[in-house]
Amino acid sequence: MTREPGDGDRLRATADEGTTAAGPPADPRERAGRPRPTADEVHRLHRQPGDAWLECRCGHRHWGLHGAAGLLLVRRTTTGHEVVLQHRVGWSDQGGTWGVPGGALAPGEDPVAGGVREAVEEAGLDPAALEVVDTWVMDHVDWAYTTAIALATGPQDPRPTDPESEAIAWVDADAVTDLPLHSAFADAWPHLRAVVDTL
Ligand SMILES: [Zn+2]
Repeated sequence: MTREPGDGDRLRATADEGTTAAGPPADPRERAGRPRPTADEVHRLHRQPGDAWLECRCGHRHWGLHGAAGLLLVRRTTTGHEVVLQHRVGWSDQGGTWGVPGGALAPGEDPVAGGVREAVEEAGLDPAALEVVDTWVMDHVDWAYTTAIALATGPQDPRPTDPESEAIAWVDADAVTDLPLHSAFADAWPHLRAVVDTL
């Protein structure tokens, strides 16, 4: 029961060649096993007509040709309130800062609906377990950012559900200003906080 050294190697090599030549292209299987998409790929995936920068008369560029919107989800605690915030990834606008999940509106999209949609896409929120109770609009005439303020009415499991977030977390309303905030969210927060305190 001896075998010539090298026979096994030769047989394996032949079998491998056969599989590659006769079997289906390896491509579909490679695609199924791919790692998570890159930021560029996700941008193409979510691409819609409003996804572009707008030059505003305030002298700044804003994301969203038709405006932008986000969602501030609030829940009551025994001592006050917590809100869901997004820790933005490094490659995003003002990367590394915290703000609400949000993004550009589609043409003709209702801002509140757009804010909820973005929060579902980015933070895994359940739209059936929240109620929008108020809005805050930062109006630049050429452009506006609408923050929908919503109260959680059932279980929510906020978590990053696309690559735009380092983290998604419940943050005590008293601790929000301890975080490095996105400048637009920092401007809006005192107004948002006043509404949160009434909930
Ligand atoms: Zn502006």
